[in-house]
Amino acid sequence: MKIVVLVKEVPDTYGDRKLNLETGLADRAASETVLDEIGERSLEVALSYADAHEGTEVVVLSMAPESAQATVRKGLAMGASAAVQVVDDALLGADLGLTAEVLAAALRRTGFDLVIAGNQSTDGTGGVLPAMVAELLDVPQATSLSSVEISEGAIAGVRAIDGGVARVSAELPTVISITEALPDARFPNFKGIMAAKKKPFETLSLADLGVDADDPAAARSIMLAVAEKPPRAAGIKITDEGDAGEKLAAFLIENRLA
Ligand SMILES: Cc1cc2nc3c(=O)[nH]c(=O)nc-3n(C[C@H](O)[C@H](O)[C@H](O)COP(=O)(O)OP(=O)(O)OC[C@H]3O[C@@H](n4cnc5c(N)ncnc54)[C@H](O)[C@@H]3O)c2cc1C
Repeated sequence: MKIVVLVKEVPDTYGDRKLNLETGLADRAASETVLDEIGERSLEVALSYADAHEGTEVVVLSMAPESAQATVRKGLAMGASAAVQVVDDALLGADLGLTAEVLAAALRRTGFDLVIAGNQSTDGTGGVLPAMVAELLDVPQATSLSSVEISEGAIAGVRAIDGGVARVSAELPTVISITEALPDARFPNFKGIMAAKKKPFETLSLADLGVDADDPAAARSIMLAVAEKPPRAAGIKITDEGDAGEKLAAFLIENRLA
């Protein structure tokens, strides 16, 4: 079985995250970068299956700037057998549509039985990439799973829905995405870090994949403007001098909150 895990480098959520107001992109130099935690959990799902099923191949795939190589390599140190990174200057500012096109083209090239992604990244938070990739590959999708069982020719899992849970299944090949309900990922150990240096790491360009970032026929979203959130204003304090209730009610009415 070949499992490809989609991983993404993101700014560390523990640090300050900033937008570059000129380009509208995340300012990657403004904070430490890490492998997205949901990507690590996705990798854990694949590695746990591989631990119990000899002959399973686990590949990590990322579309990311060249500087993300060390982050992608962490996937190898955790136990993946190979890594593929799509790097191309024309991808700067890629929207979800172009990202999905690129990842689908890379997946066609690597081949796969199962693709595992996070349900939503920590930075972009688009939450639709796995569904878009499945659509482009013309395979079933089982998204936002809070538990996953992988068998030889199919997957099954549970998805939380309003007021209950749905049990879903799909035959392989398929694309799934998982939620934070899945277990934490393992830490890479020293042996894994050393072994990662010798594992296959393929870097692909858009030309290798036959994808044109400026294809006029493709539907791409265009960012028109970007602005930072205004800083939080200080709240209004009402001191109770016997009329706090009235003041509170007046405030709510004035601000159309009542
Ligand atoms: C040169 C370059 C610069 C980039 N700069 C930025 C940037 O500043 N800000 C930004 O948010 N993105 C950036 N990207 C990445 C890309 O544009 C986004 O990843 C893409 O738009 C997906 O959006 P999302 O994270 O909201 O998707 P979601 O739908 O929220 O992602 C869900 C899941 O899909 C998978 N996934 C998402 N993106 C990728 C990816 N790139 N590679 C592999 N798996 C993926 C992961 O498993 C993730 O958990 C850059 C990429 C390149 C090549």
